[in-house]
Amino acid sequence: MSRGSRARAGVLSILLVCISLLLALTGAHGRSSGSFAGPADSCGSGDADPSGVEPDSLPGAQQVQALHASYPSRISGAEVRDGEWALEMDGVWYYWADGRLLPDALRDRAHEFVPIHLYRYELGSMPSREITPDLERVLSERTTQHSDGRTDERQRFNDFLDSLYQISSARDAERIVRRVSFLGFNTRVHPLVVEPLAQVERLVLAVMPHDESVARFVRDLSAVHGFTWRNIAGTARRSYHSYGVAVDLIPRSYAGTFPYWLWAAQAGIDSWWDDATAKRWAVPQPIIDAFEASGFIWGGKWLFFDNLHFEYRPESIYMAEHRPAS
Ligand SMILES: [Zn+2]
Repeated sequence: MSRGSRARAGVLSILLVCISLLLALTGAHGRSSGSFAGPADSCGSGDADPSGVEPDSLPGAQQVQALHASYPSRISGAEVRDGEWALEMDGVWYYWADGRLLPDALRDRAHEFVPIHLYRYELGSMPSREITPDLERVLSERTTQHSDGRTDERQRFNDFLDSLYQISSARDAERIVRRVSFLGFNTRVHPLVVEPLAQVERLVLAVMPHDESVARFVRDLSAVHGFTWRNIAGTARRSYHSYGVAVDLIPRSYAGTFPYWLWAAQAGIDSWWDDATAKRWAVPQPIIDAFEASGFIWGGKWLFFDNLHFEYRPESIYMAEHRPAS
């Protein structure tokens, strides 16, 4: 074999190793892996992690992958940097930092911020949840804090979300949100949500003629509230309504039921988390399914339930769809 052909054979075998590595990774990561930088970078870049830690076993691997796959127009990269998963947006790298998504300069101040909620969300019908004594204590404490009028002053580091939605002030938001009509009601939402919300409407209109509970639900609506510049009730943290990525469906009447945990708590119901004592305002399952199929999560599945509230969180839906079967 000549020197030239040996060199060519060498290059070929390196290429083959790279291709088989890529194929193995594609199999392991499912449909998004094509756009997912990270483990595949070790191929030829010489950046393999010397600690030998598998990137997928590092904290935040799933969440970072889900965010990267869910906002392709905003998030341009995802990789392990300096031993931690990070996402690139507009030339800035945001490190996982236990869910806080911080730029490099703030990584050692992670304890000062609360994490961005990346819900472990269950698709479909309402998941059953066991209220343990420990959980009951947490729920009671939070209820007391609210009824005493105390504000949870802990801050979220807003830059990641501000950058994702390109909104960091009420003025930005006013400029960016778009007027839409949803099930006959006007509201304003973020441009990212316009098409997903139109899809929800199409799905709901398609089931309405065959499902009286859906038809009645839509008939009984009195308003749809999207963008509003405000904090989450009882906290110093900006609501997803401020970014125009949440919508509340408001009915004409609650008929003695509770759509929101705080209203049940304020009505003096001690164990408001127990559905038998605080009957919740119901949303028909096909409505919830239509939202989930379009990238929204339903607040009715939160422990601190908010049955009026749907939030565009395609990363949570992505994680639910890609969770390994237990
Ligand atoms: Zn809401």
